[in-house]
Amino acid sequence: MEKQPINHEDRNVPQPIRSDGAGAIDAGPRNVMRDIQNPNIVVPPVTDEGMIPNLRFSFSDAPMKLNHGGWSREITVRQLPISTAIAGVNMSLTAGGVRELHWHKQAEWAYMLLGRARITAVDQEGRNFIADIGPGDLWYFPAGVPHSIQGLEHCEFLLVFDDGNFSEFSTLTISDWLAHTPKDVLSANFGVPENAFHSLPSEQVYIYQGNVPGSVASEDVQSPYGKVPLTFKYELLNQTPIQTPGGSVRIVDSSNFPISKNIAAALVQIEPGAMRELHWHPNSDEWQYYLTGQGRMTVFTGNGTARTFDYRAGDVGYVPSNAGHYIQNTGTETLWFLEMFKSDRYEDVSLNQWMALTPKELVQSNLNAGTVMLDSLRKKKVPVVKYPGT
Ligand code: MN
Ligand code: MN
Repeated sequence: MEKQPINHEDRNVPQPIRSDGAGAIDAGPRNVMRDIQNPNIVVPPVTDEGMIPNLRFSFSDAPMKLNHGGWSREITVRQLPISTAIAGVNMSLTAGGVRELHWHKQAEWAYMLLGRARITAVDQEGRNFIADIGPGDLWYFPAGVPHSIQGLEHCEFLLVFDDGNFSEFSTLTISDWLAHTPKDVLSANFGVPENAFHSLPSEQVYIYQGNVPGSVASEDVQSPYGKVPLTFKYELLNQTPIQTPGGSVRIVDSSNFPISKNIAAALVQIEPGAMRELHWHPNSDEWQYYLTGQGRMTVFTGNGTARTFDYRAGDVGYVPSNAGHYIQNTGTETLWFLEMFKSDRYEDVSLNQWMALTPKELVQSNLNAGTVMLDSLRKKKVPVVKYPGT
């Protein structure tokens, strides 16, 4: 077998050699495409040390389930073992494609990436809900509330569940249940002859190709109990963001989207050269979804342990609760990503703000810090930072 020569002069291929000369050429065998995407795995920053479990999984490595009407793939605790708190699903539906009527024991939070879809739901009091969802909108269904999703045009969205063990491929679906219920029981339940059920699907449908429905007004069903009291839809991109010199942040949790009791989120924009500042989350693990661009995140877990991972659009990241972290935009385009939490509230602690609100003398003696640093500390949180000249 002839060995494929690797061009060591190619500057696009990272070599495991640090700027101080530590390391040596990797002459292969190697997966060069992956190495190019992971410069901070091949050459970890000199401050990286110790063992941290894997904190990244790409949807590109998650098997697709293909159906007439759409596709889906998932990243759960099975793909990313540390992600015990949250699981995610990436799904696409065609115009008219339907994710069938179903429910599950986990709460569902979703963000529309592109295109439009119609969602329906009915709560335990018989109050119903129907709405159209466009790009930048999100929805939330409490655990156990039955619902459906249908593409009004080709659309793609992210689904997030408050349990890492969730699987999109083992939900409770209407077709599955009826296929596994005797016809005489269905007859007794609905008060019609057994032959009324002769054309039911014989197994779970999951996703199917349907027809694009009419307007919400024309499809609406009047419930004697009215509509759900708390809307299941929220227009996140229409929220006025917190603007900072390096980007922006939009936060959505039960304080501005009251139904969202188990999931809180932030949509973060980081301009090239800017950074999501050093911080941590006291109340939950963080599950991330990268929407555009590329970046790197270093996670610090104490005892001299810190590890850096590279991320790009379509990747999922994870941060254990209270682990310190920051995210840098390492590309030339804007980095957008979602931070998701299993909580009713978004909470973060800013390292900079903590230091600014602590007696100066104490910070000075603790860190042997000079006045330049002490005087520049900020009492107000700046989630995304970019300083002139840095
Ligand atoms: Mn669902
Ligand atoms: Mn964070």
